[in-house]
Amino acid sequence: MAWKIVIAGGGFGGLYAARTLERILPPQSARITLVNDVNFMLYTPLLPGAAAGTLEPRHVVVPLREELKHADLRLGTVVGAAPDHGRLSVRGPEGDLEELAYDHLIVALGSISRTFPIPGLAEHAIGFKTLPEAIALRNRLLRSFEIAEAMEDGREREAYLTFVFVGAGYAGVEGLAELQDFAADAIELYPRCRTSGTRFVLVEARDRIMQEIPRSLAEFATRELRGRGIEIRTGTQLEEVREDSVRLSTGETIPTRTVAWTAGVKPHPAVAELGLPLDGGGRIRVDSYLQVEGRENVWAIGDAAAVPDAAQKYQRPTPPTAQHAMRQGRTAARNVAAATGAGHRRRRFTYKTLGVFVDMGRNQAVAQTLGIRWRGPIAWFLARTYHLLLMPGMKRRTRLVIDWSIGLFFGRDASELGMLGHPPALQGQSSGGTGEEAAGD
Ligand SMILES: Cc1cc2nc3c(=O)[nH]c(=O)nc-3n(C[C@H](O)[C@H](O)[C@H](O)COP(=O)(O)OP(=O)(O)OC[C@H]3O[C@@H](n4cnc5c(N)ncnc54)[C@H](O)[C@@H]3O)c2cc1C
Repeated sequence: MAWKIVIAGGGFGGLYAARTLERILPPQSARITLVNDVNFMLYTPLLPGAAAGTLEPRHVVVPLREELKHADLRLGTVVGAAPDHGRLSVRGPEGDLEELAYDHLIVALGSISRTFPIPGLAEHAIGFKTLPEAIALRNRLLRSFEIAEAMEDGREREAYLTFVFVGAGYAGVEGLAELQDFAADAIELYPRCRTSGTRFVLVEARDRIMQEIPRSLAEFATRELRGRGIEIRTGTQLEEVREDSVRLSTGETIPTRTVAWTAGVKPHPAVAELGLPLDGGGRIRVDSYLQVEGRENVWAIGDAAAVPDAAQKYQRPTPPTAQHAMRQGRTAARNVAAATGAGHRRRRFTYKTLGVFVDMGRNQAVAQTLGIRWRGPIAWFLARTYHLLLMPGMKRRTRLVIDWSIGLFFGRDASELGMLGHPPALQGQSSGGTGEEAAGD
């Protein structure tokens, strides 16, 4: 009999779990099914590059079918589970509901942006967690430049040329820095905007940016960002977002048309529908073997799981990073193999962070690897090399090198292609695909 192993979520954790299972379990002994809502894995560390137009959006994703050998990819959304009966409920692309039976389940559903009930936030702010959001941010910047360029009054232009980022973890800082770098290039094409200049503001509730890295590196990054004219407001909270401004806890109102929300993550809501024990933050409670509390055959990894962190004496959960998720994927796969009696020994998850890279564009970065701190161009080079090596497949690595090289020598493209994938009615569309003629007909 072949074991039925189902993996819910095909991101960093799920893909690495599937690939490890494929390697260690012969196809005749296990039927592996990977369920994901899209047919690719998003390589999030490169998302800021896609937002800034340095990398083509298709070059920051990994098509799952290309990476899987004999595991089955099932496109669908996980909507629930019956752990007592070994079943996972999946809604297919056409809306049909299917019950997948499993002997072992690995949950790797990741996270979404964590928001707070701040007036106007949901209506006016853009997240920075998914590819559509990253591309929307870039398009919003270019669209704002176009609108501002047509305005006679310099004061009116101000809100369109001001960009506010809320949340200064490394993802927020990288996104802001890359986008500001892109704006500095693109504005050369807009003579009126150039005279007004752009304004970038980073708002952070805590006392310093990037709590994830040592203070000295965060201070270096702060100096670098301030040197570029970016305003950093620490110890400050967002109180309200309006269509044309934000209000901060200091009482200040900043005119802006673009607010990017990068203030942390929380587990994907589907996680709460699986009938599994959760911690106070909504993450699935697992032991250091990644086994869900009270369940012999359910495992959870990545941003969706509260995995006891060996680096903190198992007292706190591991941080939500790709480095942890992919390694947890491998460990979970080995432990599942051990549970099926395939000869592997059960292992605890003991990984401690080896390093962290924060790419700030303009050949600047900060990094810490194996206790050594790097900053400036050398850190930037290390960061790019690291992601290049981690990106699966020679084809995709080559594409990254080509994109980066083109960006270095020829600059970036400033077309706004927001309509891609959303064609207008067949009749009367413009060559840009906006379909305005169709509406007027
Ligand atoms: C902008 C940004 C930059 C980052 N940079 C870094 C970095 O430099 N280094 C680092 O270590 N970490 C980084 N991270 C964090 C890293 O991306 C996450 O920690 C990591 O992706 C977690 O892996 P995971 O497998 O738990 O979740 P994910 O990789 O998010 O995978 C979850 C998968 O589940 C799918 N899914 C979700 N819900 C459902 C559902 N209901 N049904 C079916 N499928 C579903 C999703 O589509 C996704 O494919 C960054 C994150 C962001 C947002």
